[in-house]
Amino acid sequence: MDSRSFSNPKRSLGQNFLSDPNVCRRIVAAAQLCPGEPVLEIGPGRGALTRVLADHDGPVMALEKDSALVRWLRGEFPRIGVVHADGLEFCWEATGRLPGLTLVGNLPYNVASPMIWEMVSRCRSWKAMLFMVQKEVALRLTAQAESRAYGALTAWVGNFVRAEYVFTVPPHVFTPRPKVDSAIVRFLPRPDPAWREAEDLSRLLKILFQQRRKQLGTILKGHWSAAIEQWCHAAGVDRRVRPEDLDPDTLRTLAPLVAEGKDASRTPKSPRT
Ligand code: SAM
Repeated sequence: MDSRSFSNPKRSLGQNFLSDPNVCRRIVAAAQLCPGEPVLEIGPGRGALTRVLADHDGPVMALEKDSALVRWLRGEFPRIGVVHADGLEFCWEATGRLPGLTLVGNLPYNVASPMIWEMVSRCRSWKAMLFMVQKEVALRLTAQAESRAYGALTAWVGNFVRAEYVFTVPPHVFTPRPKVDSAIVRFLPRPDPAWREAEDLSRLLKILFQQRRKQLGTILKGHWSAAIEQWCHAAGVDRRVRPEDLDPDTLRTLAPLVAEGKDASRTPKSPRT
């Protein structure tokens, strides 16, 4: 299949392809790859970034869900290991076999957030991640607590990585053109990722941010315990704060206490109002 015989871009797979080689080079340069280090591209599509990555002096792999594109990519880039897989169901833990790995991708916008949720918490021994996402998502990923953009995704990602907004990408460099701006974000691993607390933290963030306008004490009424009361005191947290006022580290220390409160068969104590 040559590039003229590509089928129409599939909206269901978030296929907005990069069409500006300068932007592609700028994105790959921002990944700061060193010779010899492995790189994995997520969603190579029609190979806009792959073509630049193919010049990298080190192992290059790519993960693509669209089977027709996988066939084309394998023919076009024989040196690159193209894996036919769904990034939402991929065994990200297996990337631990590639120490020093950098992940790069213009992510499918419709599933970028859940994919990032999985990658940051399940990849092991990686060096950096550099992703293009919708600008609004990039702002959420890099938001500070107490801001409007801060949410469950920010708090989750912030417990595994340091996130940085790199640059904005306008719609006209894509085919088809998206309606909104995009942006590049870079993640570097935290030295102390929340692997141990991940399950409790994930559950807590989902509970808290579904009701983000409510106060902590109200949301956690059914989970409240003496341990949480003590935690509030020690951490200087008023139970009237809203979830978005709590930074990622503070939420991490709260998560196991909420899980304990739920697991214990004793009647939970309601917060005093
Ligand atoms: N990298 C190419 C570019 O910049 O032109 C394509 C980017 S396009 C925004 C997203 C790519 O991710 C598409 O090739 C799409 O088929 C692929 N994709 C969509 N959903 C996926 C999934 N769940 N797992 C892996 N790849 C996926």
